[in-house]
Amino acid sequence: MAVLKKVRKDLSEEVSKEAHKETHDAGASDKRISTGSSRRGRRSRQRYSKKPAKQLVLARKHMISLFEKARAVFNKDPSLADRYVSLARKVAMKFKLRIPSKYKRLYCQHCYRFLVPGKTLRVRVHEHRLIYYCSHCGKFWRKPLKTARSGTVTRSDAKPGRFEPDHLSF
Ligand SMILES: [Zn+2]
Repeated sequence: MAVLKKVRKDLSEEVSKEAHKETHDAGASDKRISTGSSRRGRRSRQRYSKKPAKQLVLARKHMISLFEKARAVFNKDPSLADRYVSLARKVAMKFKLRIPSKYKRLYCQHCYRFLVPGKTLRVRVHEHRLIYYCSHCGKFWRKPLKTARSGTVTRSDAKPGRFEPDHLSF
């Protein structure tokens, strides 16, 4: 009788061990699956995705109007123009909007001040490139010269005075 009891006990122990092992394994595999699929990551991406289309349209209009205001107000109050640029950038960043290149070159990419050629921006031609200098921060950047005809320039094309960049026509 005692032997039978012992055998039963051993059996039950074995069964419980097996069960424990299975649950443990199942837990591990669950963990692996959950980290592999990254459901949480996808959810968070959905939560922080683009704003509704209506808002994006309004934000784009607002951003462009701010740049236009900056341009209009620069002669009266240059610091107000800088403020408009900063507001426009904030709108663009909040709504993840791309700033069109014609507005992007209106301000310095280093100090974000409004630029007007001849006043706060110096433009020079050097070795087939346009060199822009910001008068506020002193930084400069270059832009290769291109002609509409060939896409490249000859030395004579690059002489100052012969070339009229589109951004100088304010
Ligand atoms: Zn600058």
